[in-house]
Amino acid sequence: MKNKLAFVLILCGVICSSANAQVKNNIDDKVDQLLKQMTLDDKIGQMTQVTLAVFAKGGWANTDGELDPALLKIAIQKYHVGSMLNTTAHALDVDAWRKIIKEIQDEAKNTKLKIPVLYGLDAIHGQTYTLNSTLFPHNIAMAATRNPALVKAAAKITAKELRASGVRWNFAPVLDLGRQPLWSRFPETYGEDVYIGKTMGVAAVKGYEEDGLTNPTAVASCMKHYLGYSASRTGKDRTPIYMPEIEMREYYLPQFRDAVKAGSSSIMINSSDINGTPVHASKYLLTDVLRKELGFDGLIVTDWEDIIRLHTIHKIAATPREAVVLAINAGIDMSMVPGDYSFYDLLKEAVAKKEVPMSRIDDAVRRILKLKFKVGLFDNAYAEDNARSNFGKAEYQTVALDAAHEAVTLVKNNNNILPLAKDKKVLVIGPTSQSIAALNGSWSYTWQGNQEEWYPKDSKTIADAIADKIGAANVITIGARGFTSKENYNIEKLNGNVANADVIVLCLGENAYAESPGNIRDLALPDDQVALAKAAFATGKKVILVLQEGRPRFITNIEPDCAAIVLPFWSGRKTAEATADVLFGDYNPNGRMPFSYPKSMGEIVMYDYKGTEEKREIFNADVLWNGYDPLFAFGAGLSYTSFTYSNLQLSTTALKGNEKLNVSITVTNAGKVDGKHTVELYSKDLYASIDPSNKRLRAFDKINLKAGESKVVKFTVDKNDLAFVNAQLKTVTEPGDFVIMIGDQKAKFTWNN
Ligand code: BGC
Repeated sequence: MKNKLAFVLILCGVICSSANAQVKNNIDDKVDQLLKQMTLDDKIGQMTQVTLAVFAKGGWANTDGELDPALLKIAIQKYHVGSMLNTTAHALDVDAWRKIIKEIQDEAKNTKLKIPVLYGLDAIHGQTYTLNSTLFPHNIAMAATRNPALVKAAAKITAKELRASGVRWNFAPVLDLGRQPLWSRFPETYGEDVYIGKTMGVAAVKGYEEDGLTNPTAVASCMKHYLGYSASRTGKDRTPIYMPEIEMREYYLPQFRDAVKAGSSSIMINSSDINGTPVHASKYLLTDVLRKELGFDGLIVTDWEDIIRLHTIHKIAATPREAVVLAINAGIDMSMVPGDYSFYDLLKEAVAKKEVPMSRIDDAVRRILKLKFKVGLFDNAYAEDNARSNFGKAEYQTVALDAAHEAVTLVKNNNNILPLAKDKKVLVIGPTSQSIAALNGSWSYTWQGNQEEWYPKDSKTIADAIADKIGAANVITIGARGFTSKENYNIEKLNGNVANADVIVLCLGENAYAESPGNIRDLALPDDQVALAKAAFATGKKVILVLQEGRPRFITNIEPDCAAIVLPFWSGRKTAEATADVLFGDYNPNGRMPFSYPKSMGEIVMYDYKGTEEKREIFNADVLWNGYDPLFAFGAGLSYTSFTYSNLQLSTTALKGNEKLNVSITVTNAGKVDGKHTVELYSKDLYASIDPSNKRLRAFDKINLKAGESKVVKFTVDKNDLAFVNAQLKTVTEPGDFVIMIGDQKAKFTWNN
């Protein structure tokens, strides 16, 4: 019986893999046929991507998605443009998008070869640019959930809402590592840990693509921004990165390696430079590492205007044409030009002068056409009829709420002041209590996300959600709608209204921002917010701090006076409801810190620090390395119940070669309420040829435990999980002693080859 089953399975495997190979060959054949019929102009057009404002009526000021037919004709008939992106002023409704796609594809049908146009959008935490789409937590908050299944579910819904809008290419996921909290795109990262970045990145790619790209529930993903983009020295967006290759390979490359393996279809390049070389001109990173070493076979697209900037900003190209030559020869397939047709003209000249070989053009165009075949554009380039009903389903809101719930991270709860009883009178103050934008952050119906008028009408502020929960009569507010309203800082009004309140819910943090407009000089919380906090403390009432923010703003001076602190981050459409549920005990929090919350600029140290960063005294008590001393550690997160760990067991204490180490531990919910809990497995390499990290996260598992219940949680670890990049830039596991750490339990073993 067993043998029969094995035979059937093998046969299925053979048939399926040969079917896949056949599809691939079919596409390759079709691409070859098409390429043979294409002129140089056709080919260069395919490599050109322009933004909607180039052919929308009124350009950037366009608000309804109406196209200018004459300009569209120029794009497609004269310049043979192969790809388009972006919105103009703000999000459009789903039917406006479907109409835009129809007009574009109709125009493409009027060309000799009828090659459809590939449209791309930034659906970063849900479909940013379709009105009323479902917005989920940003990646930083998704990392706090420690729940890859939620990441995948959110990505799948995003794919459906994109595809319902007629768009089959998503510029996501962001795989940049969040180790520079000043960086304005920190909220788009999965935080500071490599393993979480890899796990969540792969889950996102699968959510976007796994259904199969011809299916109207999937879109092509785009890993970004390869490589090292998040590690800018000053934290300012698109500024220099200085990074030794050992660091690049240990921390910044693994997420891309795994997402490539998971089958992501495309990749976007870091706008900045590493050690002085703009990544867009780095043949080493684009061709040697990405193509040859990682084996990436998909489409490489530039970021915004980044070829032009090789000449105008980076100044490594003396002329605009030289910029094009450097980028294309380095390995770029498609230029997000995106505001004009300069790339088209310049690349044509460069090919004529033999500065770019035809083989490179054919290689690039082949990859572009392949992706167009893969997403089914040659079969039906229009917004599919059966995709339309996948927009805005009620069940998506449940996933958005689940994700927001699991993201909320409780980091302080003195004397169990939370959860609050629902008959308490609550004074709700602070700018983020009166804002929708500050709950959603960047890429929310507009690029910056800060225009409240474009959010769905049923979106709730924190003040609204608390009033819904405990009744408007129990809620006292002093502020006015909108993050920037001065009324939100009115201390006189605060003092005048506090007498009847049992407790103050103080909502601080950041308004929405994206990219360079989010650059800041330091992480200090704005003075007016600190003044408001101090005024709240001065009333003598207990203060619960709720922080809505994309990156850690210092609260070191106000933290001691807060009775409880809740971090909902930027968690999308359901942030307010999820926060109110946690505050009043309708949801037991289980978020875990995705980054180390620093106390000050001089204390920005990650959890996987090196021995030299250990806390230690030198000579006398006044001279101290502060070591790893965050306000809230990576992995911190409280619950309304308590979890205990016991009986950590390893299958062996002498692991060899490729053997698997089985690890098990008993986790008990020792409190009185049910709860979810993430069990995290860390390893520590005791001695190695380069300074080993303090510890590294190697696995995690999220479980649900009823009050009083125990579960045995199992993990498997092998030598690959213990590896690091050595001084010769090789990923190795060195024989020696290791420690496994789960909660407060530890066990030692040795590994030998
Ligand atoms: C951002 C990318 C984005 C692109 C297209 C750029 O400014 O860096 O992340 O995909 O714009 O909107």
